[in-house]
Amino acid sequence: MPSHTPAGPETVARRLVRLIADSQAAHDAGHHQQGLALAEQALAGASAVGEPLVVARIHTLIANHLWRLGQFEPSVQSARAALALWKAAGRIDEQCDTLCLLAISFSEIGLQEEALKHATASFELAREHDRGLAMGVALNRIGICYDRLGDSIQAESFLLQSLGMAREHGGHGDRMLALNNLTATAISAYYQAQLRADDEASQQAIQRARQYGSRALSLARRHGDIYRVAVTQGNLGEALGLAGDFAEARALLQEALASAEQNGFRAVVLRMRHNIAEVLLREGRNEEAIVELTATLQSLTELDHETTRMRVHSALHRAYKATRQFEPALLHCEAHHQIEMQRVALQSKAQARLMVNRIDVERALMDGERSRLEAELQRLRTQQLEAEKELLEQRTAELHRETLEDPLTGLANRRHVDATLPLLIERSRGQRQPMALAMADLDHFKQVNDRHGHAVGDEVLRTVARLFGDKTRARDLLGRWGGEEFVLVFVDTPRETAHEICERLRSAVQLYPWDAIAPGLQVTLSLGLAVAQPSDNAIELVERADAALYEAKRLGRNRLVASSASS
Ligand code: GH3
Ligand code: MG
Ligand code: MG
Repeated sequence: MPSHTPAGPETVARRLVRLIADSQAAHDAGHHQQGLALAEQALAGASAVGEPLVVARIHTLIANHLWRLGQFEPSVQSARAALALWKAAGRIDEQCDTLCLLAISFSEIGLQEEALKHATASFELAREHDRGLAMGVALNRIGICYDRLGDSIQAESFLLQSLGMAREHGGHGDRMLALNNLTATAISAYYQAQLRADDEASQQAIQRARQYGSRALSLARRHGDIYRVAVTQGNLGEALGLAGDFAEARALLQEALASAEQNGFRAVVLRMRHNIAEVLLREGRNEEAIVELTATLQSLTELDHETTRMRVHSALHRAYKATRQFEPALLHCEAHHQIEMQRVALQSKAQARLMVNRIDVERALMDGERSRLEAELQRLRTQQLEAEKELLEQRTAELHRETLEDPLTGLANRRHVDATLPLLIERSRGQRQPMALAMADLDHFKQVNDRHGHAVGDEVLRTVARLFGDKTRARDLLGRWGGEEFVLVFVDTPRETAHEICERLRSAVQLYPWDAIAPGLQVTLSLGLAVAQPSDNAIELVERADAALYEAKRLGRNRLVASSASS
């Protein structure tokens, strides 16, 4: 059996110590991807050594790195593994820390009941063992839970207590943390005041957010932790954006974004991109916001938390609505709604009781918004359709008139009569009904034009057409054959009736007060009437009516002659 070299385990242990120290240094400097890789290497080595406190330490480190990288679920796994080991070893401070880490992870995931449970457990443990600083940290986490539960007043009060404890016990980072969370809570208070339309409370909340934020940022800068600088810049940037200091807000957010991108603070990158888009939205730069948000949405992976996706959908919904693009607005509204509902489904029972109210309100708001958008969309579609339909109908009617109607008199034109007459003859023959046709021609119309002008001539033609219309039935076909000549087709009309109607027309024209159109104006009409014979076609019928008209002219005008063939 070969013996182990005694340097073996010692080398592994020394390597472990180095890896853990480097990973911790990376954590403090905010280099979490690098720190995570180092901690994972350390974990592989630690299994060989089998020292529980070392493994606990590494799990805690991994959980912290993962948390800052925005990978909350894996962070919970590592923190749980660490917690079990710290507990078994009876390590109070580490248990308190790990419980708090679990609390904020659950908070991020949206499991507020779990979050509150862990934060409270941390507080109880710290109080039991008289750990003032740890109590302050736990109060901070409890404050965050209340904020997430929508109670920003309670949240602010817990956070102020936590700030006091951090001051008392000299925790530099914890003071910054409390101030940073106070910034976030004041921003929540701002939104809640806005919902109540309480302008004064909104303004006060935003002023508090600015004050907390600047103090947190200057502490973070002094502390030299790039992660905390980025996060505090983000919160202060958001507050400045809400206060209307857009340029300053964007500058801070861009700076935080650049740093977060450079250092792989994924969750911070997404939050900054969303915040920048929100500032653009407030500035009315909707198109730019849409571009930014769409790019953010496309960059999201399964690892990113759904709340980010939800916030981006919500912002896109508002951005599209602002640009009156209701269809994508509706899509994003629904996507937002759907994630919100999934998130709600995740909440456990006890928390649900607290949440019910808020969710009902949100759901009602969302449903209201959805139906408003749908109604607007529907209204626009209907409006558009109706306008199109109207235009089409108008155009069709115009075309119809153009092809069938005489523009001067509004009677059927020659083309229409030519097309319709054979059908009418066919029908009355089929139905064995009598039918008559009259040709009417104005007497000495040339003189009317010559004496009174062409415009008066036109007016006479229009008036005669109107008289024809007034004194006949709707189903009779009245047409302008050409010039001052008209054709009148009386369907389902025996000879005697047709005769009477024609006589009535003749006398109506004669008796009309033409003087009103032009002094001294006189108009008379000659008519030739023919009754359809069983063998007639349209041409023959018109020819006989025409012959009768010629006869009426020959006999001295202003008279009606019926074709002898019909007698
Ligand atoms: P008769 O009694 O024999 O029918 O005599 P007339 O003058 O009515 O007949 P003629 O055919 O000689 O003249 C018809 C006139 O009708 C000629 C033309 O100037 C006029 N006319 C034709 N179409 C129009 C029109 O659209 N408007 C006007 N104002 N006059 C028209
Ligand atoms: Mg004439
Ligand atoms: Mg004529």
